[in-house]
Amino acid sequence: MEKTVRPVPFLDLRAQIRPLRAEFDAAIASVVDQTAFILSDHLTAFERNFAAYCGAKHCIGVDSGTQALHLILRTLGVGPGDEVITVPNTFIATLEAIHYTGARPVLVDVDPDTWLMDPRAAARVLGPRTKAILPVHLFGHPAPMRELQALADQAGAALVEDACQAHGARLAGRRTGALGRAAGFSFYPGKNLGGFGDGGAIVTDDDALAALCRSLRHHGQGAKNIHDHIGYTGRLDSLQAAVLAVKLPHLDRWNAARRVHAAHYRRRLEGAYRMPQVPGGGEAVHHLLPICVPDPERVMARLQAGGISFGRHYPIPVHLQPALAYLGHRPGAFPVAEELCTGIISLPMFAEMSEEMVDAVCDVLL
Ligand SMILES: *Cc1c(COP(=O)(O)O)cnc(C)c1O
Repeated sequence: MEKTVRPVPFLDLRAQIRPLRAEFDAAIASVVDQTAFILSDHLTAFERNFAAYCGAKHCIGVDSGTQALHLILRTLGVGPGDEVITVPNTFIATLEAIHYTGARPVLVDVDPDTWLMDPRAAARVLGPRTKAILPVHLFGHPAPMRELQALADQAGAALVEDACQAHGARLAGRRTGALGRAAGFSFYPGKNLGGFGDGGAIVTDDDALAALCRSLRHHGQGAKNIHDHIGYTGRLDSLQAAVLAVKLPHLDRWNAARRVHAAHYRRRLEGAYRMPQVPGGGEAVHHLLPICVPDPERVMARLQAGGISFGRHYPIPVHLQPALAYLGHRPGAFPVAEELCTGIISLPMFAEMSEEMVDAVCDVLL
């Protein structure tokens, strides 16, 4: 019976797009007919709706999640001589955003239970140069923001969310985007809310931060033809905004389906496989469904032979990437993150997958 669902893809975007195809076609046609490709009503409408969805005042659409994080940090005044605290087990983009500002990324190890930033480790590196703390809601699991906010307050630093994997996740009832000073989201196609290309957004309640990000993404323009700052070509384009506007009303339903699949995976695999715990008070959106194994090569070979696709997020911690060798960290610097990265495998996870598909993956693993 289970054989009929194999091979199981890691992600099937066609299954998400197919039922909404007519709406996408109409949304795209409307942008083309209006030739309103940049800074149009499509963008404004999406921004308004995504801010409301997050429970925040402002959303500023930008061209990527990396740009969102970068503009937030720059707007906070982060620059050379400053430090930004983040984690080693993240996508390189988190570090790139810090690097662009000229600040030094200060890495701290993660909690062995949640695999997220360990506030005790962050407390140990907090200092007068700490300008921001940038936890990652990795896998769509919300980081421990209450503890981290206390540290940020203590240091006079800003708490910024890397929410690129966590659209719609909640902590103590509040959504990502409303859990810190500002949040960066990615609309890369495979994210829980993804466009038909690159895109991202800054979400914040801070009026001044929002206004400056809005200017910086558009060549630093304030009044028409007055450039108050050296900015960027950093806008979210109308085609992406129109596509995202079609998808947004379905996000909660898709996230709920992911939670059902995640619970099913957990019921079957817990005990046999190491899986991250969602922090207390958190409601995850399961962008990814990771396990950590001592023998990844063997497990990956078994998945492959069983017709199960998988990913790895991320097998090399950022401090051991060639591009970040300048930070001077050696293997062993962050033992928990390093062990997790070495053994990590991401199992198939998307809203449209069936319970039989989850069972097929688990059957191969067990
Ligand atoms: C996807 C992602 C980013 C970057 O997003 P882009 O839109 O690709 O620039 C940053 N951080 C994390 C954790 C991500 O998963």
